[in-house]
Amino acid sequence: MVNIGLNRVGLAASDRGNNFICLKVLMDTTEWLRCPVCGNKTRVQIREDTELKNFLLYCPKCKQASLIEAKNLHITVITEPDAKPMNL
Ligand SMILES: [Zn+2]
Repeated sequence: MVNIGLNRVGLAASDRGNNFICLKVLMDTTEWLRCPVCGNKTRVQIREDTELKNFLLYCPKCKQASLIEAKNLHITVITEPDAKPMNL
């Protein structure tokens, strides 16, 4: 019983270690999208090879949605002249 417990702990620890390595590799090639309104990080990540067109980026901080384009980690905010401000 004690052995099973120890094995479980060992497995969990090594699983966590692997996840951490994966996360580190991902972080090298991905970028968090930032909110064009308040500058805070959103929950959206893009890769070097991610291409977004007319993507509605929602910011959990200021609760605003911005229309953006992204290519080669370069973000362009699309401003529509006809867009009316939403009454919330
Ligand atoms: Zn924001």
